[in-house]
Amino acid sequence: MSGILGVTLRGMEALPVEVEVEITGGLFNISIVGMPDVAIRESRERVRAALRSLGLTLKGRISVNLAPADIPKEGALLDLPIALGMMKAAGVLKNCPKALYMGELALDGRLRRVRGAVPAAFLARELNIPLYVPVENAEEVALVQGVEAYCADNLSELAMVLTGAEEPRPVPPAYIPDLNINADPDFADIKGQAAAKRAAEIAAAGHHNLLLVGSPGSGKTLIAKALAGILPPLSDEELVETLLVRSTLGLDTKPTRERPFRTVHFTASTVSICGGGNNLRPGEVSLAHRGVLFLDEYTEFRRDLTESLRAPIEDGFITVSRASGTVKYPSRVLLVLAANPCACGYYGDPVMKCKCSALDIERYKRKLSGPIMDRIDLQINVPRLTPEELLSITSKGSAPEPSSAIRERVVKARKIQLERWKEYNLTCNAEIPERLVKKCLTLQEDTRNYLATMAAKINLSGRGLSRVLKVSRTIADLAGEEIISKKHLAEALMYRQEQ
Ligand SMILES: [Zn+2]
Repeated sequence: MSGILGVTLRGMEALPVEVEVEITGGLFNISIVGMPDVAIRESRERVRAALRSLGLTLKGRISVNLAPADIPKEGALLDLPIALGMMKAAGVLKNCPKALYMGELALDGRLRRVRGAVPAAFLARELNIPLYVPVENAEEVALVQGVEAYCADNLSELAMVLTGAEEPRPVPPAYIPDLNINADPDFADIKGQAAAKRAAEIAAAGHHNLLLVGSPGSGKTLIAKALAGILPPLSDEELVETLLVRSTLGLDTKPTRERPFRTVHFTASTVSICGGGNNLRPGEVSLAHRGVLFLDEYTEFRRDLTESLRAPIEDGFITVSRASGTVKYPSRVLLVLAANPCACGYYGDPVMKCKCSALDIERYKRKLSGPIMDRIDLQINVPRLTPEELLSITSKGSAPEPSSAIRERVVKARKIQLERWKEYNLTCNAEIPERLVKKCLTLQEDTRNYLATMAAKINLSGRGLSRVLKVSRTIADLAGEEIISKKHLAEALMYRQEQ
């Protein structure tokens, strides 16, 4: 028996798997036991061919045992430890240093990129042993601090290293991207829409969820996308968090400080949005972690879909279950919803006429009160510009503010919030729990009277009131002002959802 350590994934967590190989005489046969999935069973052929490329022809009855037996193992990432186990059992590899080995094998012995290299790096660091990965996985592994990691192109290179004939190739130092972000689209490229841009700035500054209401073609999607570009750059820690999700899915893991922007269409399945399925993969809400999750045409979403999003939006993580266990994925997102103003889409449009009846409009408004609407702090109309307006904007000549300038203000406001909420372990105004709203968002007497009058006038609920207070706090932070004043409240009230 000879044990080689590999990994399997459970959610975003890598678990160690010990690969034991035994070769006995008899007719040639390879059997793999220990809850392997289809991909692992297929690895018999890949490993056999890869070993043949090294000049090693397997003979006899070969049993591969994957331990512990009670954990399901998935994917091709165990190819490499299985191959090494066979080499050791066949006597070709005298000793194999204790390390974590992961990689898929091509028939000619090349090592192919696998998913889960970042969680594997965390595991190697925890076990305090080196990690060997395919060269294609080196970049993402490099971003995990404090792990001893090596990479190889193919099985023969690794065999040379393990027999001591060659020096191991350390994973090159991480390329940590600088703090610059290329906003695409840039707010400078969006004509007009001053109010919507301002709402986006407030949303970004306080991490407030936003609803954009406007006719088709008014630029709601553009504004939502541009919002991602004015968020503060990802910190080192946040960068690794987003990388962990992408690595688990085997997606491109090029490190970037840009925050993710994910669009969800109403035809999407619950699994694709929330995660889960047979392989317990993370969904869109986790891919958008630390960035923007955009739900276009919100009123078209099925109730059960929006219902299933409520907990992850609220909690910042999502628990996905299946028979073999549960996993937790992060889901701290800034939620942006877009909706038409009415069923036909042109209510309030300057050019097109709305075809809806008063009843239709009432019915439509009710759709806008779905389960996650009470998580929305800001609502803004995005009117379609008339050709005359577009023309007058272009001729005025004053260029709109670029995203980089807006982002600077957002970063400043975030710093103020981080400092203020440090003792409560909160990072931004949107996270303030109800019990702290009363305690910490106090108003001066005349301002309080003003809010009380306004609240009575527009029939503001208790929850609506806290929302207005939180948004006012962000508006004051953007202005660099310590005290919430009437003008901050007045602006916050403008973004209030219609009751
Ligand atoms: Zn209409």
